[in-house]
Amino acid sequence: MANLWKQQGIPHKGWTLENVYDVREDGQSEDETTYETCMMCGHEKIRYVHVVSHPDYGDELLVGCQCAEKLTDDYINPQRREKELRNKTSRRISFIKRSWKISAKGNEYLKIDNHHILISEDSKTHKFTVKIDDNWGKKHFDTPEQAKAAAFKGIEYYKNKGEW
Ligand SMILES: [Zn+2]
Repeated sequence: MANLWKQQGIPHKGWTLENVYDVREDGQSEDETTYETCMMCGHEKIRYVHVVSHPDYGDELLVGCQCAEKLTDDYINPQRREKELRNKTSRRISFIKRSWKISAKGNEYLKIDNHHILISEDSKTHKFTVKIDDNWGKKHFDTPEQAKAAAFKGIEYYKNKGEW
């Protein structure tokens, strides 16, 4: 694996942290996950991917936390963003593991933060869809866990919207 730190023509400073994401944010299992490799140092199996950009470099780079710190010369925000994502991951896991109730039609539902969440199974396709309050999600999921992970995203979205 290439180590860009040793290559010429790649700026080592002055990068901006654009985004940090979790490759397992949709609740993927270990087997379903495609981990990233740090494009800077070649470190493998990055779960929390830091996206950095530079005005003199055409492409964004996907890197790990330590390389993101060096490239942005910022030793606070890359770790802070990664920690926020880790907290979100544990919130998502406990959300999915809550004791969901079963409706008369046999669907799982949950009341949380003034929202009513329903996981509905299509009797023909056996795919799962999410309903939050009166809104049906458009996506169909193979497992109830995936549908619940999507419901968590929806609830987090409402929560953040309320904070603005
Ligand atoms: Zn790296």
